[in-house]
Amino acid sequence: MIQPYIFDPQEYTLEDTIKFYCYKGIICFNQCCYDVKLVLSPYEFLRLRRSLNLGIQEFIERYGEVYLGEVTQLPLISVNMDPYTFACPFLNEKEGCKVYQDRPASCRLYPLVRYLIKNKEGKNEEIFKIIRETHCKGHYENRPIKIKDYLKEQDLELYLFFNDLWGEIVIKRQKFSDTPLTGDMLDLIFTLAYDLDEFRNLIKEKEIDNFFLSEIAELTDEKLLELGLKYIRDKILTEENMI
Ligand code: SF4
Ligand code: SF4
Repeated sequence: MIQPYIFDPQEYTLEDTIKFYCYKGIICFNQCCYDVKLVLSPYEFLRLRRSLNLGIQEFIERYGEVYLGEVTQLPLISVNMDPYTFACPFLNEKEGCKVYQDRPASCRLYPLVRYLIKNKEGKNEEIFKIIRETHCKGHYENRPIKIKDYLKEQDLELYLFFNDLWGEIVIKRQKFSDTPLTGDMLDLIFTLAYDLDEFRNLIKEKEIDNFFLSEIAELTDEKLLELGLKYIRDKILTEENMI
């Protein structure tokens, strides 16, 4: 059943304490895995693809679709829910999430949503809100936990690092949304953000400049993705390219 989101109006910081606990066996187990809007960041796509041992095309054909962001024109990959039951395709009714170790950040954060705002010193500060949906009974569990500890428990550190980097790219594109990306730019952004094998080939064949380390064989997927996202942010979406 489709449930409306209800945002608690209160804002929370990392030091604040919430009461929430979700566990296998809770009466509402799995109910949050229906009709979910899952737009995958590049890191989330990498984690899921590796978890399922699927190539890029295979993953997209089986589970999702690629499209361009309406305002940013950035390539995005989303996960399609089951057209009849609205279930997430990674849901196993009995066991729960089949990709639990590699589930996207929004599934880890739930029932929190996280925003970055600039503080007086111009630095990013994390703000959180709570989503209260009637089907979610985790709010009634008497388990106080600081938000910073909840993020650790849900193993969010790398997800937030990469998603914030992708967020900087999105913000940059929002700023220059009147300037369309060229086909070449779009192809390169897709490769650097989602297609790490092709990205390695481009470096080997020297089709991309020396922004990257030469010893790419030693680069993990994570390091390569970090370099790719920084390249998009600093070398493709430059002011001169955007006017
Ligand atoms: S990825 Fe896993 S946790 Fe997230 S909605 Fe799908 S089944 Fe649920
Ligand atoms: S407690 Fe909330 S998050 Fe956990 S399974 Fe139930 S609905 Fe999902």
